[in-house]
Amino acid sequence: MTCFACSSSSTVKNGRASRGYQQFLCKDCGKSFVTGGKYRRLSYKERLEIVMLYHKGLGIREIARRYKISPATVIYWIKRILP
Ligand SMILES: [Zn+2]
Repeated sequence: MTCFACSSSSTVKNGRASRGYQQFLCKDCGKSFVTGGKYRRLSYKERLEIVMLYHKGLGIREIARRYKISPATVIYWIKRILP
């Protein structure tokens, strides 16, 4: 399992989170995260790419399809990153 925050592979299982998702702990950055959610997590690079694509005029739905994430997630990151 690769850490979503620092992309390290030094992760260990860390019990179960809510709804039975497996929880992992990263030994490098100390962050914990879960797997098994409906949509995958995005790396920091992917978040920036999404905002760049939106800036170039690509539609929310097109971006969501390319990255296999929900349109709500696309909107969320655009709002987080754009001023
Ligand atoms: Zn990490």
